[in-house]
Order: sequence, then C-alpha cells, then structure tokens
Amino acid sequence: MATIINGKEVSATLRERIRTETERLVRETGVRPGLAVILVGEDPASQVYVKNKKKGCDQVGFLSREYLLPENATQEELFSLIDALNADPEIHGILVQLPVPRHIDGAEVIRRIDPKKDVDAFSAENVGKIMIGDFDFVPCTPAGIMELLEAYGIDPAGKRAVVIGRSNIVGKPMAMLLLHKNATVTVCHSRTVGLAEICREADLLVAAVGKPHFVTEDMVKEGAVVIDVGIHRTENGLCGDVDFDRVKEKASFITPVPGGVGPMTITLLLKNTLTAAKNAAEKGKRA
Ligand code: NAD
Repeated sequence: MATIINGKEVSATLRERIRTETERLVRETGVRPGLAVILVGEDPASQVYVKNKKKGCDQVGFLSREYLLPENATQEELFSLIDALNADPEIHGILVQLPVPRHIDGAEVIRRIDPKKDVDAFSAENVGKIMIGDFDFVPCTPAGIMELLEAYGIDPAGKRAVVIGRSNIVGKPMAMLLLHKNATVTVCHSRTVGLAEICREADLLVAAVGKPHFVTEDMVKEGAVVIDVGIHRTENGLCGDVDFDRVKEKASFITPVPGGVGPMTITLLLKNTLTAAKNAAEKGKRA
C-alpha cells in the first residue's frame, strides 16, 4: 500500500516558512508583501477561492486587498483597476479570478497585468521564462506538486514521468518543471493513442485530465508515484482523476483528494507573492 502524501501538512509547513520570511522582509526592508485579488461577478466557487486567498494572506502576514466588480463591469473598468494596481507600490501580486464574464477577453486581462506582478505566472513572459528555466513565478498547481515531491524525498531525475493533460495552467508547466528536474517526460492528451500503455511505463504519473476516476489500477505500474490534480464534486463528496482506493494498493506514493494537491495551490500563490515582494525590495535598494 502506498504512502499517502499529506498536502495539508506540507502546505502548513511551507506557510509557516513564508510567514517567517515575511516577518524578516518587513523587518529588514519595510516591504510587506501585498496581494490584490479581483473578482468580476458573483460565481459562488470563485467567491470561495477569493475568501481562501484572503485567509491565506492573513495567516502569513501579507497585505491583502479584494476588489469585487459587478458582473456587468466593462473591460475598460477592469483594465483601469489593473493599471492602478500595476502602479501601486504596496501591491506585489495581482490576480484576476478566472473565468471572467464572457464580454471580457481573458487573454487581454492576463496581458494587462505587469509580468512582475503576475503571480499566477500566466503571462507570455513568465511562461517563456519557465521554458528556458530562468523563472521567478511558476503556475501554482504544478509548483505545489514539485514541493510535495521534494517534501517526500521523491527525486524526478532519471524517472519516466507521464503527465496526462496539456492545459496551460497545469499540464504544460508541469511537464516543463519535471523536465528541469531531469525526468524523461511524456505529455498525454485527449488525442493520445495508446494512453493506458504509456501510463503503465510511468515511474511518476500526474493526472490532470478533469475526469473523475479516469486513471484506473490497470494503467499504473507497480510502485509508481501517482499525483492526482483533479477535483470533482460528487454525491459522495470530492474525488480526483484517479481511482484512489484501487490505485493506492499499487502505487508507492499517492496524493488523496481532498488533502493532496489542492491545499498546495494557494500556498504557492503566497510563495510567488513573497518572491515578487522580495524582488521589489531588491530593486528599491538598487534605485
Ligand atoms: P483542462 O480541461 O484545461 O485540461 C484537461 C486536459 O486533459 C486537456 O489537455 C485534455 O487534452 C486532457 N484530456 C481530456 N480528456 C482526455 C482523455 N480522454 N485522455 C487523455 N487526456 C485527456 O483542465 P485543467 O485546468 O488542466 O485541470 C485538470 C483538472 O485539475 C480539473 O479537474 C481541475 O478541476 C483540476 N485542477 C485542480 C487544481 C488544484 O488546485 N488541485 C488546480 C487546477 C486544476
């Protein structure tokens, strides 16, 4: 039976480290990390995310500001808020909760945020930096997974890694981060032929498919490390992309849902914001 990777525990340890580093940054430079979260509309799931982000900021001693714009806010209104936050020295990270209403162009929103404050790492500049391996911010979910691997002493070097899913926020950056850590990486997607066979070769399998219980026991190699990114609300509570009960009997390590990858995501957002604040403090010293 696999070791169950405890994301709550790793997340709490990392938040404590962020809190300590924040205290030091404030003491030594006077800079307190500041995160601005913008929500357009009243999507209930997004409201929960925004609330959790604020709670996370409070926990580690960040300044946090929330901007709740009505569903019918115009793109111009949103852009002028982003412009003001780009210029605001108290704010180091700006996050627009996605998805935005249909009359607003999500790609333009990402382009509008100053890349130095793009703590989600969605901008072309930050994505490009990840590609060349010289980056400050990494999309929070894949970065959280790398923290989990490190916390459990799992070194991707030399391992055959398979990532199922090629989204810009999970699959693609996940593959790049594993490659930077010297794994041999295969990315599978909806048009992959022979998926189960490819998965069976994986020493490290990351499922970011968005389909409940998609990864079954027969797709997993004995002793593989299995990371489940999926989150699905079902009648019986939350579940992931992996058939956890059966796969855990075969894997060496596995993340549960809930309590695995999920708790890491906001923590990594805090880490990216701290990095942005440190960079701003450093720039202030040089100016
Ligand atoms: P997405 O829908 O953007 O991407 C899904 C990917 O799965 C696509 O690239 C697609 O090619 C691939 N796919 C779909 N059907 C497939 C099939 N039959 N075979 C192989 N590949 C297939 O989703 P996403 O944003 O990458 O998120 C994936 C999952 O992770 C979702 O369940 C989402 O809710 C969850 N998620 C969790 C967190 C977290 O913090 N834990 C963060 C982001 C996303």
